[in-house]
Amino acid sequence: MLVEAVSLKLELLCKGVSFTREFLEYYQVRTDHIEKRRAYGTGDSIILNSSTRTPQEIILDGQIIAAANYNPYSDYRIALEQETPVLKHGNRTVRITFPSRPRSYGKYLSNGELFEQHITIYGNSTLGIFSPGHCYYFNDGNECKFCSLGSARETLSDHKMRIKGDVAGEAVATAIKEEDGRYKRVLLNGGTIPNYDKGYSIHMDLLERVKDTNLQSSLEYHLISMPPKDFRLFDRFKKIGNNMSMSLEVFNPDLFSEVCPGKARDYTRERFFAAFEAAVDVLGRGNVYAGFVAGMEPLESIIEGIEYFGDMGVVPAVAAFHPDAGSQYSNRQRPSVDFLIKLGKKMSEIYRREGFQPLIEGSGRNSLDTEAYLGGFA
Ligand code: SF4
Repeated sequence: MLVEAVSLKLELLCKGVSFTREFLEYYQVRTDHIEKRRAYGTGDSIILNSSTRTPQEIILDGQIIAAANYNPYSDYRIALEQETPVLKHGNRTVRITFPSRPRSYGKYLSNGELFEQHITIYGNSTLGIFSPGHCYYFNDGNECKFCSLGSARETLSDHKMRIKGDVAGEAVATAIKEEDGRYKRVLLNGGTIPNYDKGYSIHMDLLERVKDTNLQSSLEYHLISMPPKDFRLFDRFKKIGNNMSMSLEVFNPDLFSEVCPGKARDYTRERFFAAFEAAVDVLGRGNVYAGFVAGMEPLESIIEGIEYFGDMGVVPAVAAFHPDAGSQYSNRQRPSVDFLIKLGKKMSEIYRREGFQPLIEGSGRNSLDTEAYLGGFA
């Protein structure tokens, strides 16, 4: 069953999903299901319109979370059968479910702002904070070419641009109070500012404040961030967070410069490698993650990258590329199922050999990490 659900997730990641009109009408009024919120990217190859409620994730076989990235041309369609949502492909029909709408959505915080302007529930069990909601690489067109943060924030998002620690701390407390046991972790991610040390320190201030406000909870704290230039800052993270991911995105040096020109120009690939080494020294093997986007480079090249990092004690975290409306790569092809299966098998091998755990287990809707960890690639 696991292998079947994982294989269906791969199909969805490689093709996106379309919706029938009946399903969309049903979803407009089913406010017990979570709606898509766009804190950091559009996620869809075409935007239906900002007021249409669409699913954010699909739960397959009650256990595997897959992104519902809209693609009107996909032959995987969500439809209704006897008032029940199903995923259809040719003659095949599969029952699906959706994460429930968080009870904290729609609640007002003490500053009069809505909970969901500060926190987005991601992958059913992760309290996601995205701050700042801007990345300076967009200022001169040097953003990562798959990234749609700019257009998501311009037109499709009501999230706060900068999240304050005390407000986020209150929001996390609200979420736990409303749904005790649902949330496993806080994940902080954000755009990049020109002063890397300052950006990293602001992240830590925020996480520390959230943690201090919720000391009685058993939440884990994860950070996805550009690394600092002063590696001594990793010592501070060690006191606050459980683990940390830094996104190199692409292993091949020329393609890294091509796909992520801002990172290559202002941070450099060499400094990334030094940062990974320094972070493993401080946080230990298995506690530092390297983020990759599958579909930016040939299979051999990304496999070389995940092997390289695995040997170093850095956990490969791989997300499948999706062509987002508003990104420079909005017309680029998704990776194939065969590509993802080969990559997933290699990840499984590395995870097993090194005793690695996924960054956000069970929650990565576009990622292969949990599935690799569970050995779900046949
Ligand atoms: S670093 Fe790249 S992926 Fe991250 S927000 Fe900036 S442009 Fe987007």
